[in-house]
Amino acid sequence: MALGDHMDTDITEGGTQPFARRGACPTLSQPMPTGDGLLARLRPKAGILDIDQFESLAHAAARYGNGLLEITARGSLQIRGLRQETVDPLAIAIDAAGIVVLPNPVVELPPLHGVGFGDLADAAAMELRLREQLAELLQSPGLAPKLAMIIDGGGRFGLADVTADIRLLAVSSRTWQVAIAGDGHSARAIAIGTAEETILAVSELLRLLLSSGWRKRCREIPHARLQEVFPSLGSASLTGQPGGETARLGVHEGADGTFVVGLRPRFGQMSANDLTAFLASVRALGVKDIRPAPDRRFFVTGLGPDRAPIVLQHAHRHGLSSDSQDMSAQISTCAGSGACASSFYATKAMAEAVIDICPDLLDGSLAVHLSGCAKGCAHPRPALTLAGTAGGYNLVLNGLASEAPDAQIAGSDIKSAIERLARLIKNESQAGESARACLGRLGKENITRALRQE
Ligand code: SF4
Repeated sequence: MALGDHMDTDITEGGTQPFARRGACPTLSQPMPTGDGLLARLRPKAGILDIDQFESLAHAAARYGNGLLEITARGSLQIRGLRQETVDPLAIAIDAAGIVVLPNPVVELPPLHGVGFGDLADAAAMELRLREQLAELLQSPGLAPKLAMIIDGGGRFGLADVTADIRLLAVSSRTWQVAIAGDGHSARAIAIGTAEETILAVSELLRLLLSSGWRKRCREIPHARLQEVFPSLGSASLTGQPGGETARLGVHEGADGTFVVGLRPRFGQMSANDLTAFLASVRALGVKDIRPAPDRRFFVTGLGPDRAPIVLQHAHRHGLSSDSQDMSAQISTCAGSGACASSFYATKAMAEAVIDICPDLLDGSLAVHLSGCAKGCAHPRPALTLAGTAGGYNLVLNGLASEAPDAQIAGSDIKSAIERLARLIKNESQAGESARACLGRLGKENITRALRQE
């Protein structure tokens, strides 16, 4: 397959009860093995942590893991570098901090629910009601482990750009829409009604899923079966509404006069030290709570108008970005030297060098992955990958860190090689052409030849 073909298809882009039951996702009790140890994922109840809880989590990540925390593309928290013997102490520390993790399936709420952005109904209350009334169904082992459910109270900021199997959206203070299999725009509305009718519709949908086969997803339910259970499917009463988009980074003012600040860890990871220092610096600023959010972000809420700029200043000092255009969002790095014994180089320092030397590469058209070794912990999907080796670096133009390299670069030559790549894109890009399209057009051989040239 030609490089261009390959790149066009897949270079860009997944009461206290801490123990989840089905275990296909890395939970606290069943973390997932990765190159840098075990990885545990959690979502606090209602997606909210107070500042003490977030600080406790940072301490626990440093004590029981390798000191790195991440927020996933869907807004869950991840702690990396755990060992088998630290899994239980981590769960105990999280419990002791009062962080409640509800069992699977994960239910996602818009991160800014209930903080002055015009919710029509209470999404968190709806989640609890649903969990209480449908507990047995929701705990069925026949449900797909990755079944995703969104409950959106219909405020200004929602989750319209996040896909889910089941979407509940408040369309008035008393009315909810149920839609399935897609994001807010593509999901199919199947029912609309009061809260009670909505819970009944979800229960029918779950039964339908279970009767459709073992661990099916909503997209796999045959249309005829869906129509049998939801006869109003396709009728004019089900027009389908998307809900609000996810709030951007930066400062937003709520209708109640308080402000929230959206932040993203640069290169997708926070060190426990940086996070602890950031939390200490904003503790006295009247922060209400902290809310992990999709696209690896989190929001700081409850700020007075004069406090939001101060939070931004502290955030920038501690490796957190408030800029949607920040090029760091396009580079995934693993722990790297200093945090992982397997790493052959300092991935985050290299990422800063790539931003400095080759900004044209980071136009948003392709994913870049800097991996300390061939294990590729930070990015299990194809990308423009630089993997550390004993002799230098393996460059994989569109693949995983573990794949055969398209070029091998000596350690001493890496900065020059990045400069040559920068020159190639600058000189060869046609008007309006993205970096991805340019590299795809040039093809593997031209790129590797250019990288070898002195
Ligand atoms: S160097 Fe990076 S990719 Fe390799 S094991 Fe460590 S964290 Fe994982």
